Amino acid sequence: MSQPPVEIIPKTGNLEALDAFLQSLLPRQASRGHLVHVEVVPTRLPRFADPDPPLPPAIQQSLRAEDIARLYTHQVEALHHARADRDVLVVTGTASGKSLAYQLPVLETLLRDPEARALFLFPTKALEQDQLKSLQHLIPWGSGIRAEILDGDTPAHRRAQLREQVPHILISNPDMLHLSLLPHHTAWKTFWEHLRFVVLDELHTYKGIFGSHIAHVLRRLHRVTAYYGSRPRFIACSATISNPAEFAHALAGRAFALVEDDGSPARGKRFVFVNPTGSPYGEATDLLLHCIQAGLKTIAFAKARKIAELITMWAHQAAPHLREKIRAYRAGYRPEERRAIEQGLFHERLLGVVSTSALELGIDVGGLDACLLVGYPGSIASTWQRGGRVGRAGQEALIVLIALPDALDQYFMRHPRDFFARTPEAAVIDPGNRRILQDHLVAAAAELPLQGDDAAWYGPDLPQHIAALAAERRLLQSADGGEWYARRRNPARDISIRGIGEPFVILDQTGKTIGSVDGFRAVHECHPGAIYLHQGRQFEVTALDLAQRKVRARPVEVDYYTQTTGEKETEILHCEAFRQVKGTVARLGRLKITERVTGFEKRRIFGQDRIGSYPLDLPPHTFGTQGLWVEIPEPLRDHVKFSPGGRHFMGGIHAVEHAMIGLFPLFALCDRGDVGGISTTFHPQVGRPAIFIYDGYPDGVGLAERCYRVLEELMAHTHQLLQECPCEAGCPSCIHSPKCGSGNKPLDKAAAILTLQGLLGLIQIPAREVAAAVPGPARLPASSVGPASPAPLGPSTAPGGSGATTPCTLVLDLETQRSAEEVGGWEHADRMGLAVAATADLATGELRVYTEDQVDDLLHALSTAAGIIGFNLRRFDFAVLRRYRDLDYAALPALDILEEVQASLGFRLSLNHLARETLGAPKLADGLQSLAWFKAGELDKVIEYCKADVDLTRRLFEFGREHGYLLYRDYQDRVVRLPVRFGEKILLPGGGIGYNAASARR
Ligand SMILES: [Zn+2]
Ligand SMILES: [Zn+2]
Repeated sequence: MSQPPVEIIPKTGNLEALDAFLQSLLPRQASRGHLVHVEVVPTRLPRFADPDPPLPPAIQQSLRAEDIARLYTHQVEALHHARADRDVLVVTGTASGKSLAYQLPVLETLLRDPEARALFLFPTKALEQDQLKSLQHLIPWGSGIRAEILDGDTPAHRRAQLREQVPHILISNPDMLHLSLLPHHTAWKTFWEHLRFVVLDELHTYKGIFGSHIAHVLRRLHRVTAYYGSRPRFIACSATISNPAEFAHALAGRAFALVEDDGSPARGKRFVFVNPTGSPYGEATDLLLHCIQAGLKTIAFAKARKIAELITMWAHQAAPHLREKIRAYRAGYRPEERRAIEQGLFHERLLGVVSTSALELGIDVGGLDACLLVGYPGSIASTWQRGGRVGRAGQEALIVLIALPDALDQYFMRHPRDFFARTPEAAVIDPGNRRILQDHLVAAAAELPLQGDDAAWYGPDLPQHIAALAAERRLLQSADGGEWYARRRNPARDISIRGIGEPFVILDQTGKTIGSVDGFRAVHECHPGAIYLHQGRQFEVTALDLAQRKVRARPVEVDYYTQTTGEKETEILHCEAFRQVKGTVARLGRLKITERVTGFEKRRIFGQDRIGSYPLDLPPHTFGTQGLWVEIPEPLRDHVKFSPGGRHFMGGIHAVEHAMIGLFPLFALCDRGDVGGISTTFHPQVGRPAIFIYDGYPDGVGLAERCYRVLEELMAHTHQLLQECPCEAGCPSCIHSPKCGSGNKPLDKAAAILTLQGLLGLIQIPAREVAAAVPGPARLPASSVGPASPAPLGPSTAPGGSGATTPCTLVLDLETQRSAEEVGGWEHADRMGLAVAATADLATGELRVYTEDQVDDLLHALSTAAGIIGFNLRRFDFAVLRRYRDLDYAALPALDILEEVQASLGFRLSLNHLARETLGAPKLADGLQSLAWFKAGELDKVIEYCKADVDLTRRLFEFGREHGYLLYRDYQDRVVRLPVRFGEKILLPGGGIGYNAASARR
């Protein structure tokens, strides 16, 4: 129980002692570190509330026995929500007594209804143990309420007992739910029937791949509980993230009542930023000893196991008399070793511990006085989570962040205020990840046959997913066609929810399993010669068997690590969204990434010097994922190239890519290793230079989309980082990347700054003779579509030609010469022939008409447009135009309203229908009438009709963008809203400086 009674909250505490200690550190700064900032975090007093109606006397008694006289406001708020039968999400600080927020409503319900059951899920086994202890103190004596753990360590006979007599509170983890409880749900029938609560603690840890899997495990839970007629309430707790409600909804598929107002007290703290001039690890060792000698019980967090061990060793060497008082702590120790260290801290036998993140999550080690963070932990959330552990009764505490030479660390060293002011990162998942979704769909089908109404859980694309799985014979259809079954027994066993893809097994020489590695990481981490780290031990990989998915390794002790080198390529499969971002256009879409690992380097662990490089012969690795790309306008490229001194343009965009990826974890809970990047001076599909940033996981986990949304901010921060980094030509704190496949070459910091200034619209790029100097931004056919045609499209005098650097957004409609019937069906649209096309400029409203002899001008306008809006663009308009020129239509930045409608609704509606219901304006005529006019030679009528349709499409788009929906009439003749998200999918005119200027010029 982490809740202290009121009386011991001090007014002043030991602040003076703490400040004196800080003063004593100052003289050292000249030689070693650099104390850049001291933030005073004030003491916060508790706020209390009383449940209404009061808790049952038995629970009140348990609370009193735990010295809890009154409850904090947020605990009571959560209790009230739960009593009102709402799903609740509590987002408050570390050690704010979050567990009472779920324990109280659950115990209250169990006292009233002994049949009721609750499932508590924790991301780690250590937290399960902690929870069990906590509950044992709180469960009223003699109430008969049982709480028990079921996890991978539970022996088989014990599991059988638990099934026979299901405890009231079953404490487990998502892995167990996924692998055992759900697949064997029939064995737990009464549990499901009476399940009233599902508790999800440490919700923010369910992010990325793991979180995307959990979202599906929870959907399976919903299906199974619904089958047994129960609808458990969810109570969730999370550390502070920027998007708690949205995230919880994406994860659990429920709308949560949010409790954010933290009523718990907090100890005052001094939060110190230190930027060492020498080795940060030496600095950390020094500070650790200083703190301990000053009588402060201290925890130091290192980012790697090896570092934790080294700091401990150096501290022992420097102060042998403290040998028994300082220990390292990390994953890989035996459980009893870890318990001994935790107990040693708790009972003050230990004065210092150097830990990895293993000690981060809520394990109670008693009061601590100082926390040293050796390197920025990677997110604001985990910085506070680690730092939040210090501060014991009556004492203020000290947190010291010791910076590493890393982009994020150095950013905060220069902007310490930003650390305290900025909103925490967002947690992102992507339940739509196709591979994850389909794997769990098969698991779900094995639990209960899939039916049409499962679309409630899996969305309108369910039939497509089922069809794909049926084609792979992973699902089988029932005789009556109404149900789908899994072909194999227990398919859940094949899904690794903490990774993606079928893992590779790593074996030692004797054939014993050391561990496993995700399939798509194997070539990077387990190629022959790689040093693979497992539980703090080093192994050298001796063989990688791609067919058998096996890795052979032998234990070694070396002072180097390995890093692969190679090449990467990207192909754009589909553009999903795009928008103006200051001086350029950014797009989001599906990419195909091909990686070739061609060799590896050995580098020293300290100093990162290269020892040698070695070739490798491995097949290329290809995967589809989501990514964004930023186009670099040619004038900006030339400005960079021809700036005084001659800058290296490729070095510039490569550096921008590195630095942006380095800073991206400011915006989402992830590691820079979770996203990949490619920069190229000419991308054939983009038709100009571009920087790609993509999700590093097959199919993506939502990171690229998040990056796309915060792009302006990310670029601005990146620019600031490069401007402020004191290095001359780039360093690990700004543009070097520890995972660059080309060994950080070429890189040009000054070119990167110029490029960013251009992209951000901070500098004016002089206008120039576009067509003469370089090819226009033509979009060449993708290699998969046809032979590449290097010539730029259209004449330089084409509409908007002089504004080729400032593309506009066009609404398009066209009429044909022949009907679908005449050419043998819609699939032959390329034979229909263009009668008339019309475009409307979204910004200016300017209408242009093109007849068949002007089709080149039209294609030029389309290929240079920042965006194209239409109705049935892809299947009709583009198909008709394909006859004239085989552009890479799939890569055109198109928003097809019909596709949006279909995606949202699951079926198609006509433009006529939508226009009538949404705008009250029916179409003037129909396509057949238009064909008749064309054949009668009445082209002016076709033109008027086409212009009217373009206008209708434009108004429909504007309505959808403004309101977020269109209207249609449903099967019961009700006019209903059809949600659309045009605003996110299309470039908005007037969004950027360059754009307005250009519009005004025309
Ligand atoms: Zn630098
Ligand atoms: Zn690189």
